Amino acid sequence: MNLILLGPPGAGKGTQAKRLEDQYGIAQISTGDMLRAEVKSGSEIGLKAKAIMERGELVPDAVITAMLAARVSRPDAAQGFILDGFPRTVPQAEALDTMLTEKGLKLDHVIELKVDDAALVERIAGRFTCAKCGAGYHDTFKPTAKPGVCDVCGSTEFTRRADDKAETVAARLDAYHRQTAPLLPYYAAQGKLRGVDGMAAMDDVAAQIGAVLSGKG
Ligand code: ADP
Ligand code: ADP
Ligand code: ZN
Repeated sequence: MNLILLGPPGAGKGTQAKRLEDQYGIAQISTGDMLRAEVKSGSEIGLKAKAIMERGELVPDAVITAMLAARVSRPDAAQGFILDGFPRTVPQAEALDTMLTEKGLKLDHVIELKVDDAALVERIAGRFTCAKCGAGYHDTFKPTAKPGVCDVCGSTEFTRRADDKAETVAARLDAYHRQTAPLLPYYAAQGKLRGVDGMAAMDDVAAQIGAVLSGKG
């Protein structure tokens, strides 16, 4: 099964993609996570991407599609994948279609997580991640069970993204509305688009996605 999770920054793509990965044994492919790893390692891609990401703008299509093509060819994606944060522009979606056709693969569903901009700002402001295992949390909506200790691995170190500050969020939302929202009619025309109410609680969103995947959505 090959899926795309589409939605604005903070909509819950990563949260839901991780659940689907565990549930269906398919690979979560997050271009944002891949870029942050490149930035951390100081690679050539990372050096190019860092300033762009800090401004809340999109990294050039050619850089992203090359990175994605290499990732989709890795063995863990052979059972299927959930694309989280890709595609983000129409040229990226067209490159993906070509790539999948060449590999004899197809997209099963494109799931749009619908969330209001005001709620996104609140979600992004409270987002933090375990520095050791990458588990995702939120100050209000998903705190750790024990303050300051990761539920999953027990680590006491957490990180917040450099681009999750208020000034950058407006630029990221703007990039979404201008450059990524045109993907909604693109996939609707292919008959693949399925909308879910991303304003609901995490478990409820997961249930709505489950219904789509079992053909009841
Ligand atoms: P979010 O989870 O908030 O939607 P991501 O982690 O997906 O954000 O992306 C963080 C940043 O990485 C983006 O603001 C953008 O600069 C860059 N990025 C990630 N994926 C892409 C992509 N497919 N195309 C262009 N830039 C991307
Ligand atoms: P994205 O990958 O789309 O940028 P995340 O999955 O990282 O979004 O979610 C953004 C923040 O909002 C995280 O801190 C996460 O814990 C929280 N969150 C995710 N889904 C929900 C939800 N349905 N209700 C409330 N908070 C949520
Ligand atoms: Zn952890």
